[in-house]
Amino acid sequence: MSDSVSKGLFERASKVIPGGVNSPVRAFRAVGGEPVFVKAAHGARIVGADGREYIDYVGSWGPAILGHAEPSVVAAVQKVLADGLSFGAPTELEVRFAEAVIAAVPSIELLRSVSSGTEATMSAIRVARGFTKRELFVKFEGCYHGHADHLLVKAGSGLATFGVPDSAGVPESVARGTLTLAYNDTAALRALFEARGREIAAVIVEPVVGNMGCVPPEPGFLAAIISLCEAHGAVAIFDEVMTGFRLARGGAQERFGLKPHLTTLGKICGGGMPLAVYGGRRDIMQVVAPLGPVYQAGTLSGNPAAVTAGLATLARLDAALYERLEALGAALETGLREAAGAGACVQRVGSMITLFFTPGPVRSWADAKACDTARFAKFHRGLLERGVYWPPSQFEAAFISGVHTPEDVARTVKAAAEALA
Ligand SMILES: *Cc1c(COP(=O)(O)O)cnc(C)c1O
Repeated sequence: MSDSVSKGLFERASKVIPGGVNSPVRAFRAVGGEPVFVKAAHGARIVGADGREYIDYVGSWGPAILGHAEPSVVAAVQKVLADGLSFGAPTELEVRFAEAVIAAVPSIELLRSVSSGTEATMSAIRVARGFTKRELFVKFEGCYHGHADHLLVKAGSGLATFGVPDSAGVPESVARGTLTLAYNDTAALRALFEARGREIAAVIVEPVVGNMGCVPPEPGFLAAIISLCEAHGAVAIFDEVMTGFRLARGGAQERFGLKPHLTTLGKICGGGMPLAVYGGRRDIMQVVAPLGPVYQAGTLSGNPAAVTAGLATLARLDAALYERLEALGAALETGLREAAGAGACVQRVGSMITLFFTPGPVRSWADAKACDTARFAKFHRGLLERGVYWPPSQFEAAFISGVHTPEDVARTVKAAAEALA
């Protein structure tokens, strides 16, 4: 399906990189064909290796909320690069970045910068365990929290797509510390806390799931997580690596008016550079070394170019942007719903959207699993042929950026209608 230049590159890549890709979700295994190799990306467009342009709804899997190569972000990064790429010593830039994040997300009082969402979630769990001196934690089926051993249990998207429920190489002894429940099942969470509340260090949740496709929390679910944690001395962790700065400047927690104890951020916060954050309540974060006994470190943490891209991105996240994303999202939602007709459902929160090929609603991984993935693959191929780059998996949310236009959305809806005809 892909162009001949990408085909050639993919053959070369497959000889030196497992599956030809540096992250499994980039492979097109779930939809057939080879991945499009990207030469450049500007605004809402990516350019394939053969020069063909696509309207992009992957957005680098989340970071590109301002569109690609946003001029002020690129200029800011170029300016700091001349003064050195990494020092392994503190900088004013990383302090300014921490201050900007804390100003945007008031539940965060103290934070650490790290280099990936995986590091952020792994560290947040370690902090919660160190703080509570307990070992078990709870996650929800279909939520993805990065690829640390104990988090690769019923972890949605990439894993779900490939039908691998748990990764090989994860010791059972490690996975046993992870308790999993169905997303949105407040009653099961309450029962679990009643049975084992004194052993539970933390509950980690995607406040709006993106990693089984877009699945919103039911009213009361997130608030129950926080209050049950408080009642039982556990730590509520909102993994906002995807939703942070996307669903509002203050993330899902601002949108729903909630205050988790710890939060992880990534993707948008680095503006396309490798940067992520974990942070939260001061008394909890004070267990982190060198203040406390929980060790966590990183040679490139708080990298000057990365925090500069983050700062420049955060500077542009204003109310007008979120209004625009909401309007574009609503138009895409309506258009896709009409194009898909019966037997499918569109779920959206702000600029995160999924067309599920099941009547729905999709409230949990059990619901998502019922999707007709063959029909999704046909839809995906049809869009690609028509110049629309949609996430190559039924179980991934698509993202809208602030530089998509109503015309882009109209073209996408037309392509979807043709692809599904
Ligand atoms: C992407 C993602 C992660 C992992 O982040 P990486 O930077 O890919 O390691 C963790 N949690 C959520 C919710 C994510 O969407």
